[in-house]
Amino acid sequence: MRSKNKSFSSLAIHHGYDAQAHEGALTPPIHFTSTFAFDTAEAGGEMFAGKREGHFYSRISNPTLDLLEQRIAILEGTEAGLALASGIGAISSTMWTLLSPGDEIIVDKTMYGCTFTFLHHGLGKFGIQVTHVDLSDHELLESKISDKTKVVYFETPANPNMRLVDIQAVSAIAHQYNAIVVVDNTYATPYLTQPIKLGADLVVHSATKYLGGHGDLVAGLIAGPKELVDEIRLYGMKDMTGACMAPFNAMLVMRGIKTLELRMDRHCQSAMRVALMLEASPAIKTVCYPGLESFAQYELAKRQMSDFGGMITFEVKGGVRAGIKMMNKLDMIQRAVSLGDAETLIQHPASMTHSTYTSEERQEHGISDGLIRLSVGLEGVEDILEDLQQALNSIMSESILEKIT
Ligand code: PLP
Repeated sequence: MRSKNKSFSSLAIHHGYDAQAHEGALTPPIHFTSTFAFDTAEAGGEMFAGKREGHFYSRISNPTLDLLEQRIAILEGTEAGLALASGIGAISSTMWTLLSPGDEIIVDKTMYGCTFTFLHHGLGKFGIQVTHVDLSDHELLESKISDKTKVVYFETPANPNMRLVDIQAVSAIAHQYNAIVVVDNTYATPYLTQPIKLGADLVVHSATKYLGGHGDLVAGLIAGPKELVDEIRLYGMKDMTGACMAPFNAMLVMRGIKTLELRMDRHCQSAMRVALMLEASPAIKTVCYPGLESFAQYELAKRQMSDFGGMITFEVKGGVRAGIKMMNKLDMIQRAVSLGDAETLIQHPASMTHSTYTSEERQEHGISDGLIRLSVGLEGVEDILEDLQQALNSIMSESILEKIT
């Protein structure tokens, strides 16, 4: 298929694959192999020396992964992709490649718990300075960034509190200092935001989430300019982390990506309905969803995202205790970490995904103890609304009873 001017879904379904080159197989074959036989000993030597193209060992490359890598690259609007074992594999392989002792990385205030741990207990231990800056404050960034800053890293929307970062503005500042801008695009996916087109250099993903989309795998992806991605492949992934993706998982992620547009449209529509219901509920203290007019960065959300995604955070009146009670009253909605699956998932960041922060760190980084994170799934939206409503009703009636007795 000629890929020029094709739509998002056409590229997600067809790009890079010619069935006629594979005996007409509609679905790309899975190359279950760890190693590849060389035609001659000299050919093997040339591949190792980088003088000849070809696959020689699956920790470095594999034809099934190669197809997925081509697809994420075209969907993110860039040259090259890299498939890895997990989102953290993608982030750590990138950072071990780009940073050396004495360098600084500037990161936003809030991010996924294990990324925070990797930065502080991984990079920090090896003499790399990790500086948190509220990246929504551009003057503050300008006052902190220097020639020592080699990487600026952020999530948008951020896990768990939905804060957005203006990719264009932050990239422009970072590039004045030749810092590489790395965006974790897990929440938005390339269907809603393409950070590289807005000026970022690299995108990383937990493909475990929306890209895989079915809660049946753990995977990571990187997309960016070929030279930079090759460097991460041949150093960060091959030698530092060894976090390569299994060929079977590559097939599952490709299957997920084929329906990304359809699924994201449904996630977005349902999340908007749920956010509006929560905002109107007397049991709710706060709701954060980029599609709500009450969302602090609503204007940026409209400018930077083509729709508002499937993730919501909220706090119920009555704090952590009431929130946990409400979670326990749910019937269809599953109490589980991860996100972007067909199932609606609910979790409590302070005791689960962000328990890697100390409670002081959570306060400092804008993750309140009462925060609840909801990943709105693909079930019938009326059923999602009904389940949430009955759980909220029951904590409201319990709190009235507690006040009377
Ligand atoms: N980035 C974000 C925003 C995440 O939410 C997660 C996991 O929840 C990761 C990265 C890490 O991905 P993985 O669990 O695939 O290693």
